[in-house]
Amino acid sequence: MERKKIKILSNKNKDQQPDATPKPRPDGKEKKASTQKKLSASEKIKQAKLARKSKKTDDGDSLKSEAPKKKKRRRQNSDGILKKIAPLLFITVLGYCAYQLIFWDTSDSPDDPITKETPDKEKVNTENLLYGLDKTMYTTEERVVQENQTLQEFLNEWRYPREVSGKLQTAVAPYMRPAVLKEFQLYTLFFDNEGSEQPAYIVYEPDNYSYITFCLIPEKIGAIQTKRKVKNTPKTFTGTIQTNIADLHSRKKLNYQLLPQLESALAWTVDFYHLKPGAKYKMVFDEIFADGEAVGSKLQALEFKTDKETIRAFFFDDGVNSGFFDERSRPMKRAFLKSPVKYARISSKFNLTRKHPVLGEVKPHLGTDYAAPEGTPIRAISDGVITIATFKKNNGNYVKMKHDKTYESQYLHMSKIMDGIKPGVRVKQGQTIGFVGSTGLATGPHVCFRFWKRGKQIDFVNERLPDSRPIPSNQTVEFIAHRDALMRKLGAIE
Ligand SMILES: [Zn+2]
Repeated sequence: MERKKIKILSNKNKDQQPDATPKPRPDGKEKKASTQKKLSASEKIKQAKLARKSKKTDDGDSLKSEAPKKKKRRRQNSDGILKKIAPLLFITVLGYCAYQLIFWDTSDSPDDPITKETPDKEKVNTENLLYGLDKTMYTTEERVVQENQTLQEFLNEWRYPREVSGKLQTAVAPYMRPAVLKEFQLYTLFFDNEGSEQPAYIVYEPDNYSYITFCLIPEKIGAIQTKRKVKNTPKTFTGTIQTNIADLHSRKKLNYQLLPQLESALAWTVDFYHLKPGAKYKMVFDEIFADGEAVGSKLQALEFKTDKETIRAFFFDDGVNSGFFDERSRPMKRAFLKSPVKYARISSKFNLTRKHPVLGEVKPHLGTDYAAPEGTPIRAISDGVITIATFKKNNGNYVKMKHDKTYESQYLHMSKIMDGIKPGVRVKQGQTIGFVGSTGLATGPHVCFRFWKRGKQIDFVNERLPDSRPIPSNQTVEFIAHRDALMRKLGAIE
């Protein structure tokens, strides 16, 4: 069984040999597999890599440039390119000598199994290094962490004696909780070329910024974490929304991390789930590179223009809280969400002289109706304590909560109240408290949302609600300088 796996993997490695003619693999789908088993194993890894890559994409070209870059690196193995590496090799040797000189006497550093393994750094071609290990000395296999997998399970697969796993668990403790490995993260097995069935090393990537090397060579069991060199590159973007933001981001191949950041900046001011086409926005952000690979994006500032208004938001860390603030140093995050349902349409407004759709008589509508498909989650619009969670003939399943001494909110016609939502329970802003339905007196699936201010029902949509905590006054000067620098960058975007 284990043999087979290694075989599969050596096949896989063959695919990656330099002689492979350059084949386009922007999504890797066209790569043929000789056996069903190989397909499924390599598919999984490809998916994980794709996931990583989509995390890494930037302004549209990097998704493509990623693959060719790797190919180029492999082709360099062929002798023609030796000239090109010569100066690099020279620098490496020079660097190593300098290193030796500088660290001549500092021999009290702890035993490091990894550097011990590759002592002849000047002889190792850096092109052959994978996680700092000379990959020509090993057969490697990439895998993806499965759901709820533990380090112990990794080790069980190769029947390591208990003391090995014990030692390793102790060694990794400073870097991670051995009982928890992150689902879908990549790990790589290194088998020595002498045909050992147990891997000599396992390298696990808990995130995009570091990796942990487990050394399983009996006399050198240990673990070490390596942090990648991180660099931020400032970038800008401007776009016009035709369908929706998510679609625009994916077409422009923006890093997937930007969208939730943009949402968290605007969720309280813009109802982006139903924007009219034509809304324009600009972003100033940092592209984050780890060891030269794009791994993430950090939104710094944005300007959002709809037909009605222009909103600007600036990321700022005041030491206690960090987040987005408007031009006047007020947080973008408000005490109340814009609506209790994400992708909903207001089907009926607060109206004191409305004709009731079911009863047919004039009856004030003291709420706002949000129509959404049955089962859509309903969110608490602010932190609060549940006061009612029950069924009534007209209201159907409904929940009421108290936010503070001024405000209360209520959500009617739920198909189901969320488990655990009972009077006395505390909820957080955005927490799901139930699901859209049409229980009680309702014509179709919707939430009838009601809002009270000091005991009186008011129109939530048109109410000016309080802001959250502004930037502390002793930091306003700093914020203004920060904001102005970002304003200039926004202004410079064409
Ligand atoms: Zn209603």
